[in-house]
Amino acid sequence: MFFGKREKEIDMGGFSSSKCRICKKGYRYKFVKTTTYLVVFFINLIPLSSKYESICDECGTIEPVNLKAGRKTARSEFARKNAKQNILTFLKITVFISVLAAAVILPLVLVKAPKPGPQFYKDLVSEDGLYNILDSEGNILATVAVEDGVKILSFYDATSVLVGEDGADGTFIKHEYYYEVSDNETGELRLERIADEPGILEDKYHTVIREYHYDAANDALGYARGIEDLSTIEYTSNKVTYGYIYYLSETDYENYIDVLYLENGTQLRATFIPLLPGGECNRIISFSVEIIENGRTVDQTIYEFDDDTIELAYSAGISAKSSADDILDFVENNTPNAVTLTCAYYKNTKVVTSISASQYGSTDAAETQRFDVTEKNGYYIQRAAE
Ligand SMILES: [Zn+2]
Repeated sequence: MFFGKREKEIDMGGFSSSKCRICKKGYRYKFVKTTTYLVVFFINLIPLSSKYESICDECGTIEPVNLKAGRKTARSEFARKNAKQNILTFLKITVFISVLAAAVILPLVLVKAPKPGPQFYKDLVSEDGLYNILDSEGNILATVAVEDGVKILSFYDATSVLVGEDGADGTFIKHEYYYEVSDNETGELRLERIADEPGILEDKYHTVIREYHYDAANDALGYARGIEDLSTIEYTSNKVTYGYIYYLSETDYENYIDVLYLENGTQLRATFIPLLPGGECNRIISFSVEIIENGRTVDQTIYEFDDDTIELAYSAGISAKSSADDILDFVENNTPNAVTLTCAYYKNTKVVTSISASQYGSTDAAETQRFDVTEKNGYYIQRAAE
């Protein structure tokens, strides 16, 4: 599936609680988190919603756990697993942005004003199907679904340059995500924020700096996960260090560090988390190597470290202070799980025409998704090939 919704179930582990109300015997439960993701290019990309369930070890009864209690249990009983999963979700969004926007070691081309609105994008397509509308930089501006001639925007990115806060130097781009809903009574279409993924902030390297929270009471973007103070980002000529805080609630958080290494023709990213939330970020959990040619990402390998490899890397002294070469050496000698994404592009743009995913070290054929791309009024219309 390249675009749609998919549920992913994660067995978080076992925990003890009060006596099972069904069998009146069990005290031990399996805790399962099910997240519904928006799937884009095989990647479970955007978590739309989550639910939690407990399964009695004794009788197997599955009981829903309310969201608040579920989050609390995930946090208290399975801190490490929960942190890793939350952070990987955030990283996948970064990977998605960087692959699709073909992030390069060049500043972003700032958005041209005035921007076309939703109707403009809808007018670009007519046949039944699902389309992404992109600019030449590969940014997805809108997704339009046409069914029986009726056009609905299923994704709309209102893009702006961040202004009015310390450190906002004109290079930070704010994305606010909407979709179109029809009014039950009048049938009129209106844009509504995607409540579970209302928007992000990215920097000039397409690094996702913030993931915004939807403040329903004010229908606005509320406090953010990520980096609150932009001036804490350490930009040097060959390395950028980002210190993140991933809030689960206003008081509850995970912290981690991302390091972006800028080398000639490659971009390397490493993510470090603490052993326990709030501690020193000294354990590497993910590493990616992006090969760039002519300003476009040709392939990207994303390494995900299992618990043993995380401890091995820690013992080997790998930290956020390590050089890119040290991490590369470690990865070569310890081959963690990895996926390689390979991209091809339309003419001289950064609009993807095919993306292949293959498991590192596997002889299985890559899973490839191809796209038909057409050009219209300076915009690019991408449609999944059959
Ligand atoms: Zn039971």
